[in-house]
Amino acid sequence: MSNTLEGKVVLVTGASSGIGEATALALSAEGARVAVGARRADRLESLARKAPGEVLVLELDVSDQESVRAAVVATVERFGALDVLVNNAGVMLSGPIAGADTTEWTRMVETNLLGSMYAVHAALPHLLERKGTVLQISSTSGRIATAGGGVYAATKFGITAFSEALRQEVTEQGVRVVVIEPGFVATELASHITDPTIKAFAQNMAASMRTLQPEDIANAVVYAVTQPEHVAVNEILIRPTDQAR
Ligand code: NDP
Repeated sequence: MSNTLEGKVVLVTGASSGIGEATALALSAEGARVAVGARRADRLESLARKAPGEVLVLELDVSDQESVRAAVVATVERFGALDVLVNNAGVMLSGPIAGADTTEWTRMVETNLLGSMYAVHAALPHLLERKGTVLQISSTSGRIATAGGGVYAATKFGITAFSEALRQEVTEQGVRVVVIEPGFVATELASHITDPTIKAFAQNMAASMRTLQPEDIANAVVYAVTQPEHVAVNEILIRPTDQAR
């Protein structure tokens, strides 16, 4: 039997669009008090107006360790605790390795990988106190790397490695670690790709199938975080039915 999230406090990073926004709204609908972080605070303000429950808006850059720390402190100050961290903020600046603009590599590693590590580091004392949950939004790219997606995949493989080590370190203290690996979801993620060939490839791929919607991933998050305490859903891989690779 599942529990609701009444009385629980959740922090969702990258909640200004896509999966993070849908997840914040779904968790709010389940009764959680939700802190939402991203750089575009105006988008977070409109999310807060739509959400059924209490929402704390946090201007957050996950690549900045101080900003991450401040977001966790502000969440605990406002709501008194932290039960669930949803590490969702991410960028996908795909392109071939040869001739790449390596500043895009830095952005991906700093946002997707280091950013999620900083958030775990800052949140962990609170999660240990509440026997909470770390939920990592990884990707199918965390299991299978493809040409043009090497650095993005490296960040997502890194999340898997970090998450398994974290799981072994904290599971006996009651903290659960969940890795969710979505296939193609209709969001603005691919719109930031600068390589025209890879961007067109992503757009064609989206047009060729019934993609997942952000709400499909939000439903998986709700499933994972509403299990009884002795059940640790450690990994969920979700692809569109139409996605063969
Ligand atoms: P979106 O582009 O819609 O969302 C990305 C979110 O991350 C935005 O809210 C953005 O907010 C935030 N973000 C980016 N950089 C930072 C930063 N430095 N600090 C704080 N927030 C940041 O894409 P999705 O919803 O698709 O992506 C969410 C996650 O899902 C990512 O980790 C992505 O890798 C993963 N994913 C997506 C898939 C897909 O097909 N769409 C498939 C598999 C995984 P802002 O710009 O306001 O800071």
